[in-house]
Amino acid sequence: MEAAKKKKKIVKSIRIDVDKCNGCRACEVVCSAFHATPKYSSNNPDRSRIRVIREPLKDIYVPVYAGEYSAAECAGRDKYTIDGKEYEECAFCRASCSSRTIFKEPDSGLPVKCDMCESDPPLAEPMCVQWCLNDALVYEEREEEVAEGEEEKEELEIGLESLANKFGVEKMLDAVARMTKKG
Ligand code: SF4
Ligand code: SF4
Repeated sequence: MEAAKKKKKIVKSIRIDVDKCNGCRACEVVCSAFHATPKYSSNNPDRSRIRVIREPLKDIYVPVYAGEYSAAECAGRDKYTIDGKEYEECAFCRASCSSRTIFKEPDSGLPVKCDMCESDPPLAEPMCVQWCLNDALVYEEREEEVAEGEEEKEELEIGLESLANKFGVEKMLDAVARMTKKG
C-alpha cells in the first residue's frame, strides 16, 4: 500500500497560567462576541468557547477552553482537590458532552469547540489571548507532520456526528438530499 503523503501542519495552542488569572472573564465575553452572528453583535458567556471555573473566596480561577465533542459520557472521571476544595468530577473537562450544558450553543444545543479564532484575514493572536491583560493566556504555535486529508476528515466527522445526535440520522439525510436537489 502506498504510504500516505505527509504535510506540515501548524498546531496552535494556548498555555494557561492559572496563577495569573484573576477571574475577570474578559476572555469569555470577547470569545462569545467574536463568534456572534454578525460578529460583535452580542455577547453571552454561555456561548463562549472558554469558561473560567471560579472560586473567588479561595482566589482560585481556572480557564478551560472547549475541546472535542463527545457523544457519550465517559466512564472514568477525575476528582480534583485544590487548596482543600474538592471540585466536581467534570469541572475541568474540555469536552462538550451529553451530561452537562457547558460548551453548547444555548439555542440549538450543538457543541461548540475552540477554533483558535480562525478568520480571514487571520488574527495575529486569538481574541481571548489579546484581551487577557494579566497574561494568563499565552498563544503558542508548533509544526507537526500529518497525513494529507486527515485533518479535514476529522473536522467533518465531528460535525456530522454532532448533527446526527442532535437531529437524528434520518432528518440529517433528508436535509442533505434537499440541499443536493437545490444545488
Ligand atoms: S481574561 Fe485572563 S485573567 Fe481574565 S478570566 Fe480570562 S484568563 Fe483569567
Ligand atoms: S482562541 Fe478564540 S475561539 Fe478559542 S477560546 Fe479563545 S477566543 Fe474563543
